[in-house]
Amino acid sequence: MRFLCDQMLGTLAKWLRILGYDVYFANNLEDDEDILRRAEEEERVIITRDKYLVMRAKRRRIKVIEIESKDLDEQLKIVTSFFPIDRDAVLSRCSICNSLLVEIDKNEVKGKVPDRVYEIHDEFWYCKNCKKIYWKGSHWNKMKEKIDNLS
Ligand SMILES: [Zn+2]
Repeated sequence: MRFLCDQMLGTLAKWLRILGYDVYFANNLEDDEDILRRAEEEERVIITRDKYLVMRAKRRRIKVIEIESKDLDEQLKIVTSFFPIDRDAVLSRCSICNSLLVEIDKNEVKGKVPDRVYEIHDEFWYCKNCKKIYWKGSHWNKMKEKIDNLS
């Protein structure tokens, strides 16, 4: 499922990407019209806190999820209740830029991740776009806990 998060929902956008959803995160230069047009062109479901934007989207028959809660867990619960998590897709996408991650050989990350991380982990993923390296560290455990709480 492809989403478009408005400017107010950066943390939610990041978490949805970690969970494997394709998320476009609107920047401050984009107004409502830009957001609506992108959602139409790229067939994205808009996620927003803005009631006015919800109204405009509905009028144009664009799918929209309205977020009222400020609590991240609540927000994730709402989105995943409409579009359930695909567990195979978890950790397949860069949380910063939304690109798909590729698995890389442990040898290739030597010196690029903290020594302690290199010692205790065998699986690494890489974002070709922003060069960030991912592994199933403490962040991963926190996320697994979140997923278990959601389902
Ligand atoms: Zn990236």
